[in-house]
Amino acid sequence: QGEVRFENVVFAYDPERPILKGIDFAVPAGRTVAVVGPSGAGKSTLSRLLFRFYDVSGGRITIDGQDIRTVSQTSLRAAIGMVPQDTVLFNDTIRYNIRYGRWEATDAEVEQAAALAQIDDFIRSTPAGYDTEVGERGLKLSGGEKQRVAIARTILKSPPILVLDEATSALDSYTEREIQEALERVSKNRTTIVIAHRLSTVVGADEIIVLNEGRIVERGTHGELLDRG
Ligand code: ADP
Ligand code: ADP
Repeated sequence: QGEVRFENVVFAYDPERPILKGIDFAVPAGRTVAVVGPSGAGKSTLSRLLFRFYDVSGGRITIDGQDIRTVSQTSLRAAIGMVPQDTVLFNDTIRYNIRYGRWEATDAEVEQAAALAQIDDFIRSTPAGYDTEVGERGLKLSGGEKQRVAIARTILKSPPILVLDEATSALDSYTEREIQEALERVSKNRTTIVIAHRLSTVVGADEIIVLNEGRIVERGTHGELLDRG
């Protein structure tokens, strides 16, 4: 469950200037497809269309064969989880911030999600580092730690489809690798679309789609794309 399909998708913010010019790809349920390309290629636009921030100008997007224009906003939000590159957190405990993924979750489930994302140490603190139990100020969360909170939230929400915005350029390489590993754990057996700038970060994807100026200019596995140079 959770097959995503873009069928000849065309989109323009401004009718004079098409941004996506006929995008065709499918992500089989449980698989991972990475969309790679330079800034301005149309990657974010593509994910906004999947969330129906905008509707396609032509073609269609389906989930399990159903045109997303016929799916309620509530079901769409339940079906798709997003790990954005810049996470804005509530000024409340990390526990609360994780629970936002699914309010009904038990404490044990929240803690398990925190452990998978490796932020168990922060669970009582706020993003600014205030420990609500001890009543002391500690270290502020770094960008990488905030992103791990978003990952924990998504683990808890457990949607069949994931969109990972992976432009982790602002992170040091140690943090980047930690996040990479956490993301791999979340995306396992889930339909996943990874949005990335660089080919090097999407080695594990089942298929990589290279987008340029609103068109798919290349596609294949990581190895195939490297062989073609
Ligand atoms: P990427 O994510 O690959 O960097 P985007 O999807 O953000 O690319 O942008 C693709 C093109 O669409 C760019 O030329 C950008 O200027 C344009 N664009 C993005 N968002 C908007 C918007 N809200 N209104 C008009 N043009 C936009
Ligand atoms: P969250 O950021 O925790 O996912 P939001 O209230 O921002 O929570 O969004 C709820 C749901 O809306 C998300 O889980 C996702 O399915 C959908 N959504 C759509 N677009 C976005 C986006 N750009 N960033 C985050 N969530 C989005």
